Amino acid sequence: MKARLRHIYYKYIAPRALVLMYHRVAEPESDVWEVAVSPDNFEQQLQVLKQSYHVVPLKEMVERLKKGVVERNTIAITFDDGYVDNYQKAKPLLKKYSLPATFFITSGNVGQQKEFWWDELEHLMLFSESLPAVMDMEIAGAGIAYNLEEEAQLTQTLRQQHKAWKACEQKPPSKRSTLFYRLWEKLKPLPASEQQAALQKIRDWAGAAATGRPGCRSMSKEELKELGQEALFDLGGHTVSHAALAFHAAQLQEKEIRENRTFLQDIAPNKIDLLTYPYGNYNNETMAIAEKVAFEAAFTTEEKAVTRNANRYRLGRFQVKNIAAPEFKKQLQLWKYSI
Ligand SMILES: [Zn+2]
Repeated sequence: MKARLRHIYYKYIAPRALVLMYHRVAEPESDVWEVAVSPDNFEQQLQVLKQSYHVVPLKEMVERLKKGVVERNTIAITFDDGYVDNYQKAKPLLKKYSLPATFFITSGNVGQQKEFWWDELEHLMLFSESLPAVMDMEIAGAGIAYNLEEEAQLTQTLRQQHKAWKACEQKPPSKRSTLFYRLWEKLKPLPASEQQAALQKIRDWAGAAATGRPGCRSMSKEELKELGQEALFDLGGHTVSHAALAFHAAQLQEKEIRENRTFLQDIAPNKIDLLTYPYGNYNNETMAIAEKVAFEAAFTTEEKAVTRNANRYRLGRFQVKNIAAPEFKKQLQLWKYSI
């Protein structure tokens, strides 16, 4: 009975705040991880938030949480990774509606033309006009062999399938996407230098140069600086290389977290004291490091609301998808009552 009462209390009575997670405001050729929201839908979502919710800076939400206070109907907006569209598309819209947001930045790609490895891999595997039929290579000491057969050549059908594929909900629709997913799984846990070496092998195999599409780059240092100087916005930590932290030794985790903060602290007027875990990936060591190096709070990608008793080093967030106002309103209602 006690457990049931607790359940009822947290589901219906306890004040719950929501932290929304965005990555891109863009319309990319494909979006297998569902991280892009179109500018039009993003604006509709901001209108819903402005009308029906109290949007607060994330640091304010954390400050209140430290005092054991969570306010009803409060929402904080966050962005991860540091894509240039945050500066070009999200910033003007957030300013138009005067809504605060915190941008969590992976610093390794700042000011560079190169793409994040996962974007380049997606583009190479799913949209190259022509690939060798057979892949037989070694990545991080393990063999990967696969035959694309007739899919070596891209067809219109394949292109359409790849544009529509949502990897978190659907099985890969083609051989190319199956191979893409296997490679993604292999690369994700590797240290950055090994990821880059593997990506170079894959480029060589594909006969492709590094892509560096302008819309897929990270913000420059100047753009970041300008963003951080806006009173509405704060910057936060998201590691140097977007490391899947739990796969790495504590020492490397700490280096990734500290060096990223030092870089951002140089740019931003706000104190860099909030952190998000890349891929939502963390372990007990990660949480201990975040606390030890004096971050006030850290966020996962686990879909749970912020309540008074929440652990400040594993706070939940909700990934907002590319949906228009009516669906977004329903989604917020569901999230408010999710445990
Ligand atoms: Zn990220």
